[in-house]
Amino acid sequence: MTEVKAKKFLGQHFLTDDGIARRIVDSLSPESHSVIEIGPGMGVLTKFLIDRADTDFHVIEIDRESVAYLHDHYPSLHVIEGDFLRFDLSALFHESFAIIGNFPYNISSQILFRVFDCRQSVTEVVGMFQKEVAERVAAGPGSKTYGILSVLLSAFYDIEYLFTVHENVFNPPPKVKSAVIRLRRNGVQTLSCDEALFVRVVKAGFNQRRKTLRNALRSASLPVESVSVEVLAKRAEQLSTADFINLTKVIESCL
Ligand code: SAH
Repeated sequence: MTEVKAKKFLGQHFLTDDGIARRIVDSLSPESHSVIEIGPGMGVLTKFLIDRADTDFHVIEIDRESVAYLHDHYPSLHVIEGDFLRFDLSALFHESFAIIGNFPYNISSQILFRVFDCRQSVTEVVGMFQKEVAERVAAGPGSKTYGILSVLLSAFYDIEYLFTVHENVFNPPPKVKSAVIRLRRNGVQTLSCDEALFVRVVKAGFNQRRKTLRNALRSASLPVESVSVEVLAKRAEQLSTADFINLTKVIESCL
């Protein structure tokens, strides 16, 4: 693969507006003292993050050229050259930490599933996503955009849609609008149901979102034959996170 072609897969749209960059960085709560930025690129967010008082700050960037740029411009910055999706975060942080970034849009969902997996150590996420993804994550039950990530993440995070960002403040401009959201860990340590089963139930429900839950869960081989709760006649998008937790408990008792 040529260098140019390889770069196409990195989702590089550099933010050119310092005012928006500062607003993103200021959205991180002052209590977040350990922070990792994903995909700093040419450092538009990084330059404000470096100045944050009392912060153990690291960046991870996959693109060699951006890494070289960051080394040149910010010699004291700890830059990890690598793929965030493969990086072992526990090697960097022994306690909890926050994640920030204008994320590469092609791996947005994977980043968010990673956050869910690391929910015991990720206390906060402030991130720019493609607007549709941001809306989907922040959506509540009943809306068409509500989905797997909305349910899973809202079990452990308070999710806020902060603001929309126009495509013309990026170089090159993306084809879609962007938006910044914030996830803050709620007080829930563990769910009152089997968490792995909860994930299975939520995924199975939304994977066939036009079917009733009874049919969607049955085709995912979940034991719903003997379960007689009303919610099984509904579709996944009609259930809140609490409804999914209750449904999981009922299914659990049939296993
Ligand atoms: N934060 C910068 C760049 C945003 S573009 C800005 O706002 O201008 C997204 C950045 O993520 C690019 O620099 C790209 O090289 C980087 N990137 C893409 N995939 C990555 C991955 N898997 N791990 C770490 N960084 C990645």
